[in-house]
Amino acid sequence: TDLERDLERFTAVVHDYPTPGVVFQDLAGAYRHAGLLRAAGRELARRARGTFNAVVGIEARGFILASVLAADAGVPLVLARKPGKTPGKIQSTTYRSEYSEDQLEIPADALGPQHDVLVIDDVLATGGTLEAARLLVEACGARVSRFGVITQIAALGGASRLAPTPVDALRTVP
Ligand code: 5GP
Repeated sequence: TDLERDLERFTAVVHDYPTPGVVFQDLAGAYRHAGLLRAAGRELARRARGTFNAVVGIEARGFILASVLAADAGVPLVLARKPGKTPGKIQSTTYRSEYSEDQLEIPADALGPQHDVLVIDDVLATGGTLEAARLLVEACGARVSRFGVITQIAALGGASRLAPTPVDALRTVP
């Protein structure tokens, strides 16, 4: 598709970043492109249509995509943040991603049994990050209906780790 081609064109592939051996998909160029972020958000919303009434975005590059998507779809946006940035009662979990060990937190009262959540990030690698987000959503009593990302790295097996919850990826790289 045109969208897939544009995403490929505006993604820089950086070897050995941020650590040796990692092939980093840098989406900054896609975010810089005037229409592409909007188009990506719309397409992910279209694929998930009817399945969600809230969006969770992952800090930091996931926030950007999640915010245009949630605004377009007219649903609440809940921020899954790195530690120490969410006041009040929180749900929190530690997880491993492709190249870091980290922690995610969401406000405990942001979601409840009435919510079916679309969880959004920029890149799906091993799936550790999105799995952590699902744990937080479920700890709030809500459910994850789908995951949405711009790029998934197939070789790292994230989608099978997240199964049976469907993953929408606008681009799949080997
Ligand atoms: P995972 O938890 O699936 O292993 O890694 C996904 C998380 O790490 C995402 O939050 C994503 O931002 C970051 N990440 C991992 N690999 C890449 C990559 O190649 N490019 C970018 N932009 N982010 C990545």
